[in-house]
Amino acid sequence: MAAKQNKQRANNLLLRNASDFYTIPLENDYTLTEEALRECLDKRPSKQIGWFYPDLKLLSYKEGVTELLNKVERVSYSLMVTAEEEKLMVACSCGTQVEKLCIHTFNALLRLLNFDKTYNVKMFLPNGAAQTVVTNRQYFETKQGTQNLFKPKPNLGSVYAINEPLADYNIEDELTLPAQPKTETKETTICYVLMISRRHDLLPFIIPCIGKFNKAGDKIKVFSNFLSGIQKEYEPSLTEEQKTLNRICYDMYKLVEKLPDQLIHGEMLFNGTEDVSNVFSLWQKAFNLLLDQHIYIHPFFRKRQLKGKPTPSWLIKVNMQKDVPVIQFQLIDKGVFYQLQMKFVINGKAISNCKTLDTFFLRSNKNVYMLSSVRDAAIAEWMERSGNRITVFKEHFADFEKSFLHPLKKYYEVKKISSPVKK
Ligand SMILES: [Zn+2]
Repeated sequence: MAAKQNKQRANNLLLRNASDFYTIPLENDYTLTEEALRECLDKRPSKQIGWFYPDLKLLSYKEGVTELLNKVERVSYSLMVTAEEEKLMVACSCGTQVEKLCIHTFNALLRLLNFDKTYNVKMFLPNGAAQTVVTNRQYFETKQGTQNLFKPKPNLGSVYAINEPLADYNIEDELTLPAQPKTETKETTICYVLMISRRHDLLPFIIPCIGKFNKAGDKIKVFSNFLSGIQKEYEPSLTEEQKTLNRICYDMYKLVEKLPDQLIHGEMLFNGTEDVSNVFSLWQKAFNLLLDQHIYIHPFFRKRQLKGKPTPSWLIKVNMQKDVPVIQFQLIDKGVFYQLQMKFVINGKAISNCKTLDTFFLRSNKNVYMLSSVRDAAIAEWMERSGNRITVFKEHFADFEKSFLHPLKKYYEVKKISSPVKK
């Protein structure tokens, strides 16, 4: 042995066994370059031939050492690999006496080089791709890609910390690119439900209630109990306007609640009672605040309803309109009789398809308007209870004019039309 070593030294060559680990220096950041690899090739010409383009396969990972199958046709060796930041250590099972790297190891590593003639050896580190792949084989293809040593099954997409493109991806850079401003998607919001007494025996009032948005955040899907909107837990999320509104709603309900007992069903509400005026002025305070809120109308029959939730199929989403309708009358000559009709006018134009919604309000499709005064509300209700038109046979007209028209004309415009208007 000593004689042999001496002979080798004499030839200026110090040989080693290829099965012992050989250290290849790395460029910074775990990078093996082709240049560094070629430096490690055995320079003896006879050792440089063959072993072209070997098949490589991950066999095992144990205590920092990755074992690869290194195969050409029917001949195969084990290639042992271990990596650190500045060095890659490799050993081949061929046991050949070599100066630096055996041809099996050299060509195996050459195969791993990328197009830019470098290879990042991080996959051989503890918790690197090699360890993950050999311990989770069922998630990886048995036939790997031509260059990589592994290939995740398609249902995995990219695998974090394993797929290089993903590892290099700096999401922070992308996220700071110009984009649409973020719109706040809220899960819940406060809604205001305008309670309309179907029997016209209670003034309209409004109840705050929490609504939950659908997934897209553009429509309210679920409604919580009536009055849920004034629960303490929601208060931090309310705007100042909503807090004010909630106080008004509470005061309104307290006033409205007192009213039904004073009324006989079917009797007109307006006897100049103070409470009606008070409710109306609360509505006036509330109305401007309501313009930007989610408003629904809902029929109201009995107080017990308020202990539960709104009935979804009864809720109608409406928009509060800022314009204040003006009441005008037409007295139409229809031959043997006159007919008195009422119109609601905004900016000189009659609101089409318009009905009194309840005492203080008009509704035209999805739009809700508030009348300007308790007087307008009383007159509108009087007309509604009269079937929206009053017919006066000409023999009764003089009396009607004296007792109704003259007083009405003091406050409202009454247009006399000689022939029926075509609508
Ligand atoms: Zn070898």
